[in-house]
Amino acid sequence: MKQVISLRDLEEMLRHGKDVRSLPADALLTPSARDFLREVESSGSQRGRTGDGPAASRPAKAVTARSSKADLEAFFNSPAIHELKLQICDIGRRLWQRAYVDGNGGNIAIRVGEDVVLCTPTLISKGFMKPEDLCLVDLEGNQLAGTKKRTSEILMHLQIMKRQPRAVASVHCHPPYSTAFAVAGVEPPTCMIPEFEVFASVATAPYRTPGTPEMGQLVADLVDKHNTILMANHGVVSWSHNNVEDAYFKMEILEAYCRTVLVASQLGKPVQTMTAPQLQDLLKIKQSLGIPDPRFGLKECELCDNAEWRPGVTCAVPGSSAASSAPNAPPDTEAEALVQAITDQVMAGTK
Ligand SMILES: [Zn+2]
Repeated sequence: MKQVISLRDLEEMLRHGKDVRSLPADALLTPSARDFLREVESSGSQRGRTGDGPAASRPAKAVTARSSKADLEAFFNSPAIHELKLQICDIGRRLWQRAYVDGNGGNIAIRVGEDVVLCTPTLISKGFMKPEDLCLVDLEGNQLAGTKKRTSEILMHLQIMKRQPRAVASVHCHPPYSTAFAVAGVEPPTCMIPEFEVFASVATAPYRTPGTPEMGQLVADLVDKHNTILMANHGVVSWSHNNVEDAYFKMEILEAYCRTVLVASQLGKPVQTMTAPQLQDLLKIKQSLGIPDPRFGLKECELCDNAEWRPGVTCAVPGSSAASSAPNAPPDTEAEALVQAITDQVMAGTK
């Protein structure tokens, strides 16, 4: 019996990086599958996998926010944009499966032109989006295409893209371990795991009501030198200069890191950190990958300063090793004892 291929089958093939033009010669196509294949062939573009680099987010026929309604609609319904819609749905599903989003939370955006951005809609779980749910907006957040209303948090993504022209995609979600750090006001310590040092550059933005321009502004203020922003009492937003999957990877890397650090700090031993020269080597790799980091150019003694980090973790910078001599004592008690000793000396000196 001949194989019948539906539009769904083709979408599935694209999702798995297969060439939809290499179908068996005797395959029977449903009408919608035939239309889709024709569009793919005429556009000359056939990338469906996530992680194809910026080229995949550059559809053949460009539009701007000032293009005619008909051109914008054609662009929004083109095969190239369809591929990016599939990528967003795929990333949404991964966010949901990993419990990085809850309810209708989280949002995803891909820049698809000079001032045009594809994004997720409001009021829908990121785990169950369909390509037809997505929206097209301009850089001010005005909706250009799509039947569902765009996410209210798009303003933050747009401010990131305006301030950081290298940002081609951004992801926002609420992963529990990273968000816990953001709630506690603790910036994740450094110099512990190479992957985190190379791919993520984390900073924390103060709390503002989600979706407000002030929130977007505070995040945008940090994206020059950071690609992963913890939002106090809220969640995380990341951007990538490569593609949407890469922006999502920052979430996986940060979340795994926060979880590991938290577990490590409960094992009853001082956490080991890498040395400053070891970190310096990682920063060289980071710079060669075009990933920003505020530590480029810092002196070695400044590189592994974890002064902000309290629960059981000591800093690799010489001078702070005193804390590791009494691993069972709470760090705050030691710090207090140290302060007391210094105060006593100062007081003795003034007598
Ligand atoms: Zn949120």
